[in-house]
Amino acid sequence: MATKIPPHVLSKSTFMKGNQCHKALYLNKYHRELQDEISDQQQAIFSSGTNIGELAQELFPGGVDATPESYYNFQASVKDTAEYIANGEKVIYEAAFQYQGVLCALDILVKKRGKWYAYEVKSSTSVKGPYILDTALQYYVITNSGIELADMSVVHINNKYKRKGPVDVHQLFTIESVLDQILPRQANIPKKIRELKRVLKGKDVPVMDIGEHCHIPYPCNFLGHCWKHIPEERSVFKLGNSRGKEWDLYKKGIYAMEDIPDDYPLNKNQRLQVNGWKHGKTHIDKQGIKEFLKTVRYPMYFFDFETIRPIVPMWNNSVPFQQVPFQYSLHYQGRKNSKLQHFEFLAEHEGAKDPRIALLEQLIEETKKPGDIWVYNIGFERARMNEFAKYFPKYKKEALAIADRLRDLIIPFQQKLYYTPEMDGHHGLKYVLPALVPDLSYNDLEIQEGGTASVTFDAMISGTFDGDVEKTRTELLEYCKLDTYAMVRIMEKLRKL
Ligand code: SF4
Repeated sequence: MATKIPPHVLSKSTFMKGNQCHKALYLNKYHRELQDEISDQQQAIFSSGTNIGELAQELFPGGVDATPESYYNFQASVKDTAEYIANGEKVIYEAAFQYQGVLCALDILVKKRGKWYAYEVKSSTSVKGPYILDTALQYYVITNSGIELADMSVVHINNKYKRKGPVDVHQLFTIESVLDQILPRQANIPKKIRELKRVLKGKDVPVMDIGEHCHIPYPCNFLGHCWKHIPEERSVFKLGNSRGKEWDLYKKGIYAMEDIPDDYPLNKNQRLQVNGWKHGKTHIDKQGIKEFLKTVRYPMYFFDFETIRPIVPMWNNSVPFQQVPFQYSLHYQGRKNSKLQHFEFLAEHEGAKDPRIALLEQLIEETKKPGDIWVYNIGFERARMNEFAKYFPKYKKEALAIADRLRDLIIPFQQKLYYTPEMDGHHGLKYVLPALVPDLSYNDLEIQEGGTASVTFDAMISGTFDGDVEKTRTELLEYCKLDTYAMVRIMEKLRKL
């Protein structure tokens, strides 16, 4: 009779979680209800990870899949994997192993010339630090389950891959052996496993204060629970360019900015931020703003892109993780007090066509009148225009000419020429707008920030969107339009000073 495999005590992900923080491991096991809600953007990241894993299987086609039918029954997967190996299968996807109560599911296990090779797929462009511990644990569990591994590799994205025609998985992925790095780690793994099992046997939640470990290597999913004693606004963790001062203050029992002593060493901008909260002080450097405004002249445009960033290039002439513009909003004002004109572009999502050429042609046409093109945080828009020039040589001259006309409205706020307490140390548009133009708000919109716009359009173009398409397209347009209208109003406000 086949022996029944007992449920696992630790998995690869809980091992990693416990290695980051004992309390996170314990809460994850016994107090799941305290977890933070998963945002749409996090969900999109998980889903893209799954898709990349499935695509990487094409590197070793024709395998058998040991994925369990139910997430709660990985032991069936362990049993299936053992059977596949016994039956002489050469390629096994999601091969599962369990040793001393520790479960690991490996993305791809391959037998070549009588030897086993393990592959773990990651949707990043290099082998990152935490992957070494992650694969070291897998190596430990697999080899102790009786499978000798000739090599273990991380399969990651090759960011030099430029798509030409159908996706070439052999170009898209890079296979990098990590064996030399994981072998020296083997001696410590059993000790770590024992330590984490002891944590799980404990009666009480481990005592663990918040610290840098809450975000490193991964943001913890119990932040809402553990960080609730930190004020949402005005916290010392919002101190700009803090360089460790936030933790120094926290250790001294200072959580809110208004409690920071006047003699605590802060730089000029940090002092401005703290005094803003402490004394409600707005700082306006009128001379500085006057100098800035001397460079502002009509006619002028206000411009903003929205982009998606597919891991696997969706179109020819693009590379992994490239920011692909799919939408823009453009306001134009010819003279002071003249009527504002608005132009916009939102790519068709049906047919998943490359949005770039249509967008660029329309942009060239709509910016053909002279005038500076104001953006907020120039680096992003300039980089996109330079990419247009690089990937579409036919439009190089026009794209570079637009890049040359870009001007940055962030400057007065980045240089703290204008600072109000509501900006809370930030100079992003989402902070500056409510501080300067309180009657205009993103809060009334369905889509309120660029990340959501990106996830939404990505779902539409990939065919996974299940909402009301027409309504959502209108919401995308409204959101992007507000970004440029916000700039118009901010410029007005500065000029009124
Ligand atoms: S939020 Fe920080 S202290 Fe709390 S469980 Fe997570 S890592 Fe541990």
